[in-house]
Amino acid sequence: MHLFKWLIIRVRMKSIRSVYKIGNGPSSSHTVGPYNAANVFKKRHPEADHFEVTLFGSLAFTGAGHGTEKAIKTVIENCDVHFDKDRIGLPHPNTMLFKAFKDGKLIDEKTILSIGGGSIVIEGEESSDEKEIYPQKNLTEIIEECKKKNISLIDFIYQNEEADLKEYLYEIWNAMKAAVERGIKTEGVLPGGLNISRKAKTLFEKRCYNEDPDTTLNRKIAAYAYAVSEENASENIVVTAPTCGAAGVIPSIFYYMEKDRGFPEEEIIDALAVAGIIGNVIRTNASISGAECGCQAEIGSACSMGAAGLAHLYGLSLDEIEYAAEVAMEHNLGLTCDPVNGLVQIPCIERNAVAAMRSISSVTLSRLLYQTRKISFDEVIATMYKTGRDMSEKYRETSHGGLAEIYRNKD
Ligand code: SF4
Repeated sequence: MHLFKWLIIRVRMKSIRSVYKIGNGPSSSHTVGPYNAANVFKKRHPEADHFEVTLFGSLAFTGAGHGTEKAIKTVIENCDVHFDKDRIGLPHPNTMLFKAFKDGKLIDEKTILSIGGGSIVIEGEESSDEKEIYPQKNLTEIIEECKKKNISLIDFIYQNEEADLKEYLYEIWNAMKAAVERGIKTEGVLPGGLNISRKAKTLFEKRCYNEDPDTTLNRKIAAYAYAVSEENASENIVVTAPTCGAAGVIPSIFYYMEKDRGFPEEEIIDALAVAGIIGNVIRTNASISGAECGCQAEIGSACSMGAAGLAHLYGLSLDEIEYAAEVAMEHNLGLTCDPVNGLVQIPCIERNAVAAMRSISSVTLSRLLYQTRKISFDEVIATMYKTGRDMSEKYRETSHGGLAEIYRNKD
């Protein structure tokens, strides 16, 4: 398992496109990844008349609540999906075994890993859909390069990425805004059986008694984060940022900045690019998967990305951007993944709102204190990965520990 992981992470960085993907919720690794895997495997076997997929690890434990079977059957109708909760020694916590049959005979089988953010790795094959484009491997090397060439982080990104990145980011931003705008208008109860009412519309419309500007900011940020997270929980279209479970953080911050604070859209696009490079560094050097490293890898990463993007939007320096991203991740270290009933609702939806507010606070701290820092962003990311690897499986998207366990016992 460790060898395979080493092969996955010790590569150069891919385009920041790999961080932002449009797809159906509620979980990038449990719906978007399996959906993509089913697509790839089905296309390879047009002659097959039957398929079987076995889900292992976190996919077996929370795949029912996260909608994994439905995502696979959307692509392959003639498919039996099995949940194997007993297999140990897996190459990744989100492992799938795809089998294709013709006239009752097995014609091919492939182990496919859903490694987070909707990305997949087919065991024994190099990923061909995401090109490696950055020579640098971490933020320290990126900052060194920017300082050597005397360029900003955003210039560094656009110099390395393909020319149509901005066009792609406009598409991403439009999908993010559409999710916010649907979510703040929609009422009703979320699917899955927890009987949770949507709250974004109330948060958006209802002012607090004697509301001051700080409360308005927090209320609106929360409303936008709830809006996207409730869309995600309803299996509607969202953007991984870097995952579906954490999809509310980035849109909420930047929707507020565009609609309520009047920042021009082209500046929001650049902020998304800066947030994306931070997500990319985390994805390359650690993990963005809750099944692998707990919620610190999902919500922590989104919080860190949001802080970096906002610091860029405010025109802060490279060092201030790094510090904001570092603070945001540092105070998510150890955050466990314990979704109640295997649904991406409790604690996930509220957690998106709190993380967005924490991104903003991290930027405030960085403006005042960046010259005093002792820990680099890369050191915090290495700590997050090590903490995640040390974390009991109970707290890595299995719904066996934490709130998921207490809630079940309470029932
Ligand atoms: S607790 Fe965090 S990592 Fe786990 S499903 Fe919810 S948002 Fe994702």
